[in-house]
Amino acid sequence: MPQVLQVAIPRPVGTTYDYVNADSQLKVPVGVRVMVPFGHVRTVGVVLGQSEHTSYSGTLKTPSKYIEYEPILLPDMIELVKWLSSYYHYPLGAVLEVILPTEAMRGRPVMAQNELLWSCVDPESTRDFKRAHRQQECWYFVKQHGRVSDTQLRQANIEKSVLKALEKKGLLESKKLQREYIYKPAEYELSKEQTTAVRFIEDNLGKFHVHVLDGVTGSGKTEVYIQAIKKVLAKGQQVLVLVPEIGLTPQTANVFQSRFGHVDVLHSMRTNVQRFDVWSRVVTGEARLVIGTRSAIFAPFRNLGLIVVDEEHDSSYKQIESLRYSARDVAIMRAKLLEIPCVLGSATLSLETVANCREGRFQLSKLTHRPGTAQMPDFNILDIKGEILQGGIAPKLLNLISQHLEANNQVLVLLNRRGYATSLICHSCGWRKRCDACDVMLTFHEVPERILRCHYCEKRYAIPDECPDCSSTNLVHIGTATQKTEEVLKEHFENVPVHRVDRDVINTQPKLARLFVDLQNPSRSILIGTQMLAKGHHLPHVTLVVVLGADSGFLSSDFRAPERTAQLIVQVAGRAGRAEKRGEVWIQTYDPDHPHLTSLSEKGYPGFMDTELMLRKDAGFPPYRYLALLRSENVNAEEAELFLRSIAESLVSRPVTVLGPAPSPVSRVSNRWRFQLAILAEHRKQLHDALDTLSVDTKTRRNYRLSIDVDPLDMA
Ligand code: ADP
Ligand code: ZN
Ligand code: ZN
Repeated sequence: MPQVLQVAIPRPVGTTYDYVNADSQLKVPVGVRVMVPFGHVRTVGVVLGQSEHTSYSGTLKTPSKYIEYEPILLPDMIELVKWLSSYYHYPLGAVLEVILPTEAMRGRPVMAQNELLWSCVDPESTRDFKRAHRQQECWYFVKQHGRVSDTQLRQANIEKSVLKALEKKGLLESKKLQREYIYKPAEYELSKEQTTAVRFIEDNLGKFHVHVLDGVTGSGKTEVYIQAIKKVLAKGQQVLVLVPEIGLTPQTANVFQSRFGHVDVLHSMRTNVQRFDVWSRVVTGEARLVIGTRSAIFAPFRNLGLIVVDEEHDSSYKQIESLRYSARDVAIMRAKLLEIPCVLGSATLSLETVANCREGRFQLSKLTHRPGTAQMPDFNILDIKGEILQGGIAPKLLNLISQHLEANNQVLVLLNRRGYATSLICHSCGWRKRCDACDVMLTFHEVPERILRCHYCEKRYAIPDECPDCSSTNLVHIGTATQKTEEVLKEHFENVPVHRVDRDVINTQPKLARLFVDLQNPSRSILIGTQMLAKGHHLPHVTLVVVLGADSGFLSSDFRAPERTAQLIVQVAGRAGRAEKRGEVWIQTYDPDHPHLTSLSEKGYPGFMDTELMLRKDAGFPPYRYLALLRSENVNAEEAELFLRSIAESLVSRPVTVLGPAPSPVSRVSNRWRFQLAILAEHRKQLHDALDTLSVDTKTRRNYRLSIDVDPLDMA
């Protein structure tokens, strides 16, 4: 019997294709990559299954090449691929495109490739290299560093041929680099709460469970992860730590590096080849402690023993295009398939996770205080109805800012809107400038150049001298964004340094790092910025946090916006007053009696969660019902709407609630009209059954740019 191979092809198709293994001596295992003829081309595919039969009536083709004979995808990953396709209603082949690195899809072979570690044979000697400048440079470089890895040498632009020449001359020697994980103990004792959490995880290694670490900012969650990791590494297993973002916060990787001597970093900012190198080390089992962003959850570990998801609430775990997965949810599924623990940590847990804890599906540990004397700041609400604001700030808070500055402290101003003012308006006739291609107002930017920008399609527009409708030259700014507030703060507090922290000024990690290092010294200064301020830095001298524009989050039409806003405020507040200095937080609002705000100020984030969960339950929203959002785009508005309407009609007899179709909150982007349809169900299965009945072929899907978003985070 010839072996029939079921091969998934990285194309937007929902099925596998049958090929035949013509070599009777060879049994091809499931999980290997093959090169196969497909239509008029050859492409790399992955064997997802095998059988003795085929339902294909034609003659089966043979793979033209086996890229490897040892599977790169073990059975758990094959299961995961199938689960991803069915859960997110995304074509099986296209799942592969998302989960495998580009180089893997191009067929680059995975090799056990321990890096080489180079050293001088006789480092005490001095040598004369005469004209061989490159060899001289290289030899001194190695001499200076003692032991240098391939990667370091490559980064120093030293060529392999030079190394080889020196090796041949007997001047350099190399040996394989062994990644060693030598645990270095902490310089402090674990708190009782930390110990309890660690013990629970340790006692349950080798079993599937989700352990939630609800720990206020600075309460030492990382130490709990480290203790659990230590145990798993000691068993010879691999560990994956997911973090929301590495680009701006490399200190997370440094912490693990300093405690275990080695960590491999897997994230998308590296080049394809570098990324593939790390990925290969995961596949061969050489890399055992890996820290990575969202897509690292798909790395094919050999022997994974633990997954940690830090800041589990962070929305960057959700991919908002193609395969719209949540890395946190995939992490839980992977842990389940592998029967290993998954640890979720955050100071501001997502409501999904809280509900799962309350219903007993997840195990909860709390870290309620910060080590030492540091205390959490107080939350205060300021009613700004009828107040005259300057740069968006109430007079009372300007006074408060100056008091804190006089005491030689630092002040943090959060305004999650970059740009100068939000919009330009004609004072005479009310004309406002919108983007030609999108249904949004343009944002006014003052620096680096005076320009109007669309924050959706990034199109730029010159600022008109006069109103195109009434020719008035009296064009004014409305709304406030970071640049405007920065300007006002600079005017108001003349001799105090004001730092703006947003995507427009801080675009590289060193810039942010330098700023935060400077701020570790006690000195008066003001920081004004967007959510970037929440990115995990300790600012011990910040004693006041002022929150502007919170209303736009709490009063938004997106039911998840209040959750995101509260998380942001609490995360930013968590940067404040880490040392002995106690901090205070002030939130400006036009609606001081709003239940979100009163619960947040009276009982902090836990109070907010209680209120919000109640509201969600009453409204029948997640986490109490299951939600999918279908979005469609077309240059013709009517067609986009009709298409979704036909889908809605096909679901009438199903046990689901269908809302819409309705125009998306931003109804047009880059000249395409957007509509959406929400589907809600009491049970997950009902939702998936309903989605399974939508038989939209690839072509229709593409024509209407249909996307199916299961567990959407963003309603826009
Ligand atoms: P989180 O991740 O919960 O925000 P971190 O893990 O960053 O908090 O810990 C904050 C700081 O507290 C770190 O500098 C860490 O070294 C320190 N720390 C952690 N646990 C303890 C402890 N038991 N005693 C003293 N300091 C600790
Ligand atoms: Zn006008
Ligand atoms: Zn636009």
